[in-house]
Parts: sequence; C-alpha cells; structure tokens
Amino acid sequence: MAKFCVMPQDYHAGVRAAISFGGRTARARILCACIRQPPNPPQKVPMSDTPADITREAQPYQVLARKYRPETFADLVGQEAMVRTLKNAFESDRIAQAFVMTGIRGVGKTTTARIIAKGMNCIGPDGQGGPTVEPCGQCEHCVAIAEGRHVDVMEMDAASRTGVGDIREIIESVHYRAASARYKIYIIDEVHMLSTSAFNALLKTLEEPPAHVKFIFATTEIRKVPVTVLSRCQRFDLRRIEPEDMLAMLKRIAKAEGAEIADDAMALITRAAEGSARDAQSLLDQAISHGAGETTADQVRAMLGLADRGRVLDLFDLIMRGDAAGALWEIGAQYSDGADPMAVLRDLAEVAHWVSVIKITPETAEDPTVSPDERTRGQAMAEKLPMRVLARMWQMLLTALEEVGNAPNAMMAAEMAVIRMTHVADLPTPEELVKRLKDAPTPPPMPGGGGGAPAPVGNGGAHAQGGFAPSGPSGSSGPAGGPTALAVAQASESALAQYARFEDVLQLIRHHRDGLLQVQVEEYVRLASYQPGRIEFTPTDDAPKDLAARLAQRLQGWTGVRWGVTLVNGCEEPTVSEVRDGEKLALRQEAEAHPLVQAVIAAFPKAKVSEIRSAEDLVHEAAVEGLQEVEDEWDPFEEE
Ligand SMILES: [Zn+2]
Repeated sequence: MAKFCVMPQDYHAGVRAAISFGGRTARARILCACIRQPPNPPQKVPMSDTPADITREAQPYQVLARKYRPETFADLVGQEAMVRTLKNAFESDRIAQAFVMTGIRGVGKTTTARIIAKGMNCIGPDGQGGPTVEPCGQCEHCVAIAEGRHVDVMEMDAASRTGVGDIREIIESVHYRAASARYKIYIIDEVHMLSTSAFNALLKTLEEPPAHVKFIFATTEIRKVPVTVLSRCQRFDLRRIEPEDMLAMLKRIAKAEGAEIADDAMALITRAAEGSARDAQSLLDQAISHGAGETTADQVRAMLGLADRGRVLDLFDLIMRGDAAGALWEIGAQYSDGADPMAVLRDLAEVAHWVSVIKITPETAEDPTVSPDERTRGQAMAEKLPMRVLARMWQMLLTALEEVGNAPNAMMAAEMAVIRMTHVADLPTPEELVKRLKDAPTPPPMPGGGGGAPAPVGNGGAHAQGGFAPSGPSGSSGPAGGPTALAVAQASESALAQYARFEDVLQLIRHHRDGLLQVQVEEYVRLASYQPGRIEFTPTDDAPKDLAARLAQRLQGWTGVRWGVTLVNGCEEPTVSEVRDGEKLALRQEAEAHPLVQAVIAAFPKAKVSEIRSAEDLVHEAAVEGLQEVEDEWDPFEEE
C-alpha cells in the first residue's frame, strides 16, 4: 500500500468535512489516512438551479460539503478569473507542469485541484476527447478521480507527511508512466508544510519533470513556499467567496435539500463563514439539523454563539449617547443572557468599524448579509457620528479588549471600559479645543478700562506700536496636548480671549496702574512671541532679573489665569520704548522741518527742539509719575 493517501477522495473528504468544523482539520486528516473502508457510492449532484432530480431517499446521509462539492469549473463559486485562465491554457495546449492554488481554507483549493486533474485526464464520453476545462464526468477517468480511486492521481497531505522520505517516494514513482490515464498527477495539499529538504528534493523533479507528470499544489500560506518552487508553478489565487455568491450558493443548497431557512439566518451563516465555502456548508448543515420547520436567525445565532446584533447596536448607541447607566445595564443584561464580555467588546469594535466604513462608502451598507433594520441603524449612526468619535471608539475598544483579556474578572473590566467610553465618546479632540480657542469671539472690553484707549477688539488692524504688533493667537502652534493642558485650556478660554494681542497686556498693566512694571516691560522686553496666556521675550541687558516672574505673577493675579512667561535668547525686536523713540526721532525730524519751527530756529539760532510731547504722552507720564510711591507695595515679589 502506498504511503500517501490514495484512498477514495470523496470518502476522505466526507470524514474531513464532518470533523473539520471548529478548526480540527489536521486531526481529522490523520484519521482519514488511517481509515480504510469502502467509499459510499459517489453522487453526481450538479449545483445548478434545477436540483429537482436528486434522489436522496436511497442514499445514506452525507454532509453537505461533500454532497455539493463542485464537480466542474462551472460549479465553482466565485472563481471566474482562474477558470478563464485555465480555459485559455487548455485550449492552446499550454498546460503548465505544475500549479499552485492558494487561498483561505475552505475556498475550494483541493476541489479545484481535482477538477483540474479530471480535466487533464478526461477522454470524454466517447473516449476520444482531449484535455478540457469541462470534464465530462462520465468517462472512466472522471468517475475514478471523482471517487478518489484513480491510480494515476495521487493525493498527499503535506501537513502529515512533511519529510524528505515522503517526497522521495513520489520522485521515484515519477519515472514510471501513467498506468491508464494521460497524465500522472500529484496533488500535494498544504505544500508549505514540507520540510526544507523535502522541498529541495521536490525541486529537482520540478525542474525537469517527465512530460507525463503534473503537480498540483495547494496551500493556505503561499509565503512559506520557497520562491524556487513557486517560480516553476502556475499560480492561482482563489478568491474569498463574496457574500452575494455565498448566499446564492447556500440558497441553492437549501432548496435542493428542501430545507427552509430564513434569509437573515443565511446571512448570519455567510458572515460567520468568512468567505469559506466549506465552512458555510458545514454551518448550513448544522443549521438544518437544528431547526424543525424553518430555521430562524435566532436559532443560527444561538448555534454560532453570536450576540444579538440588534442588542450590540443598542449598546453601541447608548455608549455614543454618553448614557453610562443605560450602557451598563445593557451589557449586564447581555452578560446574564450568556454573552461573553470579550465577545461583546469585539462586536462593538466590529460595529465601530462597520459604521466608519459606511461613513466613507455609503454603498457598503447595502451588504446582503446585513438585515434591513441593522442597515438603517448603521446608516443613521454613520450620518450622525463624526469620524473622530468613531476612530476613538475603535482605539478605546482595542485597548479595552486587551485589558479584558488580562483582567482577573473579564466582566468588571468590560464594565469599566464601557463607563470610560461613555465618558469620552463625545469629548472634542485637542485640535478642536485649540480651534475653539482661536475662534472664540472677543468679549467686550473690561469695564472701566483706564487710560482712555479702549481694549482693542479682534485681531485685525495694524497696531500703533509696529515692532510689537503681536503674531496673535493664530500664529504658532496651540497649547501642548494632554488632558491637564486641555482642562486648563478650557477653563482659561474665556478669561484669555480678551488678551488677543500683547498690546492688550500693556493695556492691562496700565489699567492696574502698575507703573514700574509698565516701564520695565516697555524698556526691557524684546517680544519673541505672544499668545494669550503665553509670552516669550528676550530681556535687554539692563533688565531686572525677576521681570519675567513678576510679570507672570501680576498677570495671573489680575486675570485669574496662569500665564507662562518665558525668557528666550536671540530675539532682536525693538522694545516698546525703542519703537516709541524711533517714532519720536521721526517726529522730531518732522517737527524740525516744520516751517514754524524753522522760523523759530532762524530767529534764535541757538534754540533746539528738546522734547516733543503729544497729549497722550502727557496723560501717560502723569499716570506713571502719580504712582511712583506705590512701589513698595510689590517689594515682596521682587525678593522671589
Ligand atoms: Zn471525462
């Protein structure tokens, strides 16, 4: 007896499909290599829309995955591209020496391999046909291959036979001609499992295979197959089966089985199968045996262990509305109904993703696997919820999943996560806070604003003291992020809004009649940057050392908000008084050029213009002079 599996394939597949559900495929396959029993007679069940002539009553029970295994390319669901390529190759007589099929499990790789094997060896009903993509299914080769008992079609599972010895066996047999068929065909499933030495041994044969030998490899992990092997194969990527195709297939089978299954129940199965036809058929099998009469979505949901999607949407909605109590109650109710906290959070994450996708591409909602009710709710949420909120929910759910996984009590951790989510679901982002800060309307000027000039409103307009025209709040980047900074920013928002420009700060100092501070700020401060609440300057050489600290302290005292006053190096902006001096010089030149002054100088040659005073200057000086004696009041601060 050959070591690799030459037993009737249909029988093996039956065993495998029966126990492969739930991820125990490997074990099932080992079983299948050991069991030696005569196969059930094969059944020819075309997966067409006219399954009426199926005679089921005489047959022993067969799992659906086996019963409805595609026998021709036309039966293959959703693999049109591959079929077209194969067809061209067959018709132009350019059949590759080796093929590799890749795709997720249950998508039809080994089934495809067998159909290709049939196509290559089919001789047609009359015994005269050549290789074809439409194997007749009647000739001796088609029948034998379908039954898995063709002597020239050998199938082995690399998952259980990885060694070089197994491959050597093949390599030695390669040189013998096919016993009865056109080609000797080796089908190696899960080929990526072969050991390196096995691959190397195989490679020699692949490089120069005899003309009568064909290899068909199947793998779920194409990246693990050496490039040297891949480069000698024609590669087919079997696509995940689209939900529409899968639904149509399930409906066809259910109809053929005479089983009544609700559409939303089929949709659930389709979604759970994740593109694998074999899984979908196994699930359908289970669903049919579960239900007496029509199988409902609820039954399938229970069978799949899924939380009720409607309830997941309810929970999502409660969280998004910030209703912590309602959300807690809902997750508690789901928990007592048997839902796994981890699964609930995973479902929530799925909803967050789903709603985000609908937001970007609204057509996505038209997914047939989603019930109309869910669809409407998803669309409504997508319209209402901003993307940043959805993105944050996703982030938080990922974190929550990790926490729940590590927590000693999963439910507690899930509840904490839900509470946290309800609280931050709709907080603005740092960017939005900054934007709000910038866009905030300037409140009316301070009541009783001194000094005559009203507090400027808005950011526009040139400033009298050109050198000090501040960059305004829109200038540089916003306050640093982080929750603390955010809270402060929020609290200070209104308090700071009225100090949009540095001139407003000067005005504030003037208003509080702190003459010394005013003079010092005007004389010693080279302003590097200004935002409400944040001042950076380079002090002149003769500036008092405590100027920044004192300025910050005074501003905080007056505004009730913390001000950051920082010394920086290298700013060469003129101080306020330098600007004023420049203006004075210009004024003096203007004055000296004035005809009246010229006339005076002409009359009194020794006369000079010593000072030019505007009415405003006089008021200002009077204010400063009148307050000199209060200097002692803030001595204590100077000590700091
Ligand atoms: Zn045939």
